[in-house]
Amino acid sequence: MKAARRTKLIGEIETLAEEAIFGTLSETYRCCGNPNCRCHSGGPKHGPHLYVSYRGALGKTTGYYVPLAVQEQVRRGIDAWSRLQAYMRELALANKERLIPKARPGRGKPGR
Ligand SMILES: [Zn+2]
Repeated sequence: MKAARRTKLIGEIETLAEEAIFGTLSETYRCCGNPNCRCHSGGPKHGPHLYVSYRGALGKTTGYYVPLAVQEQVRRGIDAWSRLQAYMRELALANKERLIPKARPGRGKPGR
């Protein structure tokens, strides 16, 4: 990897890290609290409501509904997280190749 690419990559990672949000997005439709509403008599339900699910510290899946006012930012944040992972992978590979420049894929036995 060229130094310029490396610098750019680290810059991108810094930018993405500022807004990254961890989790998986899904959209759900729900009934409201009004029993006379159309949604309780076969009409369309309310939504889509944006929902983020993620694996918490204890390995349990948890999540939250996203308020309408910040849906756009949350979508961007989730997208940033996945791009962040791709960039980190590329950078980590480059870091390895700086240390071990000509390593070929292992064939099982070292020292040849
Ligand atoms: Zn309703």
